[in-house]
Amino acid sequence: MSMNYVSTRDKTVSLTASQAIAQGLARDGGLLTPEVLPELTPAFFQDLVSKSYGERAVAVMKLFLEDFSEEELTRFTQAGYSGEKFDDSRVAPLTALDEDTYCLELWHGPTSAFKDMALQILPHLLSASLVKNQEEKTVCILVATSGDTGKAALEGFRDVDRTKILVFYPKDGVSAVQALQMQTQEGGNVGVCAVHGNFDDAQTGVKVLFSDEQLREDLAQKGYFFSSANSINWGRILPQLVYYISAYCDLLGQGKITMGEKVNYCVPTGNFGNILACWYAKQMGLPVGKLICASNSNNVLTDFIRTGTYDKNRTFHTTMSPSMDILVSSNLERLLFGLSGQDDKAVADYMEQLKQTGRYTVPEALRAKIQADFAAGFCDEADTSAAIAKVWKEKKYLIDPHTAVAYTVMERYRQESGDKNKTVFVSTASPFKFCDNVLKSLGLEKVREGLDALDQLAEYSGRPAPAPLAALRSKAVRFTESVDKQAMKDAVWTMLP
Ligand SMILES: *Cc1c(COP(=O)(O)O)cnc(C)c1O
Repeated sequence: MSMNYVSTRDKTVSLTASQAIAQGLARDGGLLTPEVLPELTPAFFQDLVSKSYGERAVAVMKLFLEDFSEEELTRFTQAGYSGEKFDDSRVAPLTALDEDTYCLELWHGPTSAFKDMALQILPHLLSASLVKNQEEKTVCILVATSGDTGKAALEGFRDVDRTKILVFYPKDGVSAVQALQMQTQEGGNVGVCAVHGNFDDAQTGVKVLFSDEQLREDLAQKGYFFSSANSINWGRILPQLVYYISAYCDLLGQGKITMGEKVNYCVPTGNFGNILACWYAKQMGLPVGKLICASNSNNVLTDFIRTGTYDKNRTFHTTMSPSMDILVSSNLERLLFGLSGQDDKAVADYMEQLKQTGRYTVPEALRAKIQADFAAGFCDEADTSAAIAKVWKEKKYLIDPHTAVAYTVMERYRQESGDKNKTVFVSTASPFKFCDNVLKSLGLEKVREGLDALDQLAEYSGRPAPAPLAALRSKAVRFTESVDKQAMKDAVWTMLP
């Protein structure tokens, strides 16, 4: 069996893992996706129980990366998940709130958000993929970020050989800490620029740059080619499978579950990359009950999963969980491909309808399959604040607004469905990354300005702020430029030397 990658819009496109990672997006605009999935057995999970997180990552990733050696992958995980980068040696620890409820903390990396889990590995995969494919050019990574990806990508790629990284973030869509994290980025191969508008403006702008043939040619002349670090790159999804499997192994190891017992996962969702990784793990044999897709007021996915109609023609809300302020969830395309029996023509058609009219409806049979795997819900700003306050008051456990959305949707799902499976809810950011909204939610009236709010939250909670956030105060601001969406192409040339 050979592990090839096909486009979700054309199955005849077939690439190796390293080609798929180097290329990012298929030429036809589809997403590169494994043609077959490996099957995991109870023995596989049992074997991982006694292993470290890095060893678990190698065991899972090597199944998908035939043209990488185990030795290479070991090197990558040792570098990416080292004690220098992660402040917890378990990398993705589980915290029990009670016997049935566990929080999977994915924010112990260098930028305090879950994007580090993949972006500490992707640059290594990409750099090696270039060498494996005799690529002479320098890769120019273009990123549209709703906040967390940008910083995690900058940190992951900084000063990696033969890479440049340019990040566009929405001026009106990131927190003060997030903006400062990017504006102060160090490294000789990095560029950062704000775009007037919201995340969809920045993402659409980057997609236009990717499909601009003239720009592609001009860059090639200068020795560059474009690739992506957004979650459309398979190298972003793959490392994310690991923590779902790892959490299951931890529950087994702690005697909380028996082998084969189903566990639900509730994931705060934006671009659908994180929860998609869990769906792949389930397809491969991880005993997952329901995948609970949690959204904020931008509830396009809730409606889709409940009705089968995806409709982005709706008001865009700027919320306190900005990494989920998304109306077009790119990775849903991979789910449609997988659950439709790899019907590339149908997927291409849905995506064309989405482009033309902003909506599409999947057939009844496909909707039923989606509902067999997924439940969905959303919550508003007041619910989000209330969850932060409740979890702190009742459990003395501090969660950020994204995690609070997941917590709320999980609790509602349990009440409405009566589902008694143990549930892991995913925590995607440190509360310190969003301290002003966390402090307000906790009922503090006078929230201090900017980084002083970090100290305030640390004092109030008795927990220390993550070291890289505390260090922001002493960093020089390097990037202050902001442009209109139409001027992003010029900004590329300004940022590239
Ligand atoms: C990116 C992000 C999400 C959404 O993840 P997707 O993979 O885009 O669904 C949720 N929370 C935080 C903190 C994030 O950074």
